[in-house]
Amino acid sequence: MKQIMKILNNYSFNKEEQEQNQMILDMVFELAMNEIIEKEQDWDEEGAKFDPETKKVYYPSGMMDLYKKCQQNDLFSIIVPEKYNGFELSYTLWTALIEIMARASLAFSMFFPSQGLNIEIIKNFGTPEAKEKYLPLLGSGDAIGAMAFSEPNAGSDISAVSTKAEKEGNSYYLTGNKIWLSHGGAAGTYITFAVTDKTAGPRGLSAFIIDPKIAGDALEVVRIEEKMGLHGSITSQVALDRAEVPKENLLGAENDGFRLILGSLASSRIGIAAQAVGIMETALQESINYSLQRTQFGKPIGHHQAISFKLADMASLVHQSRLLYLDTAQMKHRGEDTRVESSVAKYATTEAAQSVTYHAVQIHGGYGYSREYRVERLFRDARVLTIYEGTSEMQKTIISRGALSRAEK
Ligand SMILES: Cc1cc2nc3c(=O)[nH]c(=O)nc-3n(C[C@H](O)[C@H](O)[C@H](O)COP(=O)(O)OP(=O)(O)OC[C@H]3O[C@@H](n4cnc5c(N)ncnc54)[C@H](O)[C@@H]3O)c2cc1C
Repeated sequence: MKQIMKILNNYSFNKEEQEQNQMILDMVFELAMNEIIEKEQDWDEEGAKFDPETKKVYYPSGMMDLYKKCQQNDLFSIIVPEKYNGFELSYTLWTALIEIMARASLAFSMFFPSQGLNIEIIKNFGTPEAKEKYLPLLGSGDAIGAMAFSEPNAGSDISAVSTKAEKEGNSYYLTGNKIWLSHGGAAGTYITFAVTDKTAGPRGLSAFIIDPKIAGDALEVVRIEEKMGLHGSITSQVALDRAEVPKENLLGAENDGFRLILGSLASSRIGIAAQAVGIMETALQESINYSLQRTQFGKPIGHHQAISFKLADMASLVHQSRLLYLDTAQMKHRGEDTRVESSVAKYATTEAAQSVTYHAVQIHGGYGYSREYRVERLFRDARVLTIYEGTSEMQKTIISRGALSRAEK
């Protein structure tokens, strides 16, 4: 916490904003470190569930009680505009919150980045009716925000989606299969792309908000994924069979969805960088504690240079990664274009998280391989960070394009 505040206080927040940041992050820290972290192991063991009879999905026991506590503390409304019952505070504060939640549980922290992205996209591109309806719902947490981009043949290349949207009267009807949906089946809003002009490639894609209350049975969960880590988070396959989307839920202009949303998608990657720092911080703390407590060859292992230098490398990666995501978030908060910087933050921090969690397991020796120890889960959970919201390879593609175009100017 001290480290986060030290960095935040270097930014141009006035005294009142600094106090507000401190107050909110203290509250988040208490909730994360006293209550959420206690449940992390149980959630990993129990996992999210799907009932094929009723097609319903379930978060593991107790997760929604803690979600409700976040709602009671107004945590989802931090970046919602005041006009829509939000606090309209900084994106920087929002990402610091994500770091702290991810320190306690990566699965639990999954509620925040996609909520933020739904809020941002609807705020920037929603019709007045959609803003009026969905921003207060997302801000109160009464609706969980999901992103439905991936399809069987559209992964890194999300412009390859084949879900089609047919316009009839005042609505569009979406048909297709979406996969890998975090919160799929539990969400109250799904941001998605669908083909509105099949002759135009990415320029024939439109973006929509699917409201499951309007879509009804035309949006159905097919299954949930059995994953290496992140067991407490729901990851679903969803079938859309003429799911109705009223025209008020079109984002931006028809056929312009892909171009519009790509920028928001890029900058939301800062939230994943914050998750990476959360995981790394916990892996570091667990390793420090263990290396002081475990004695071999007559002294705590932390006093053997091979281990203490590992700790030094880990602490350096955590510090530089935190600076990186908070600085990028602050740039975004100031309204700057952070598309390339967000990729740098996502790429560098999520790769750093692989190294830090790897060393955390190593420092714990055989116990690091045991399910009883938190570092085993951190290692499994961290693995997804270089994959979702754009793989490391795709981030490198964006970063290198940015570097080349700067050099050519
Ligand atoms: C736990 C989890 C949660 C997720 N949540 C969501 C969600 O909420 N919503 C959603 O829409 N999606 C979600 N995803 C999907 C995720 O965003 C994709 O898995 C990711 O974008 C990669 O797509 P892919 O899996 O199809 O891999 P592919 O695109 O098939 O890539 C396979 C490999 O090829 C590499 N590759 C592909 N193209 C290139 C290229 N041009 N140059 C170099 N290398 C390349 C990739 O980097 C990767 O290493 C989630 C995934 C997971 C695992």
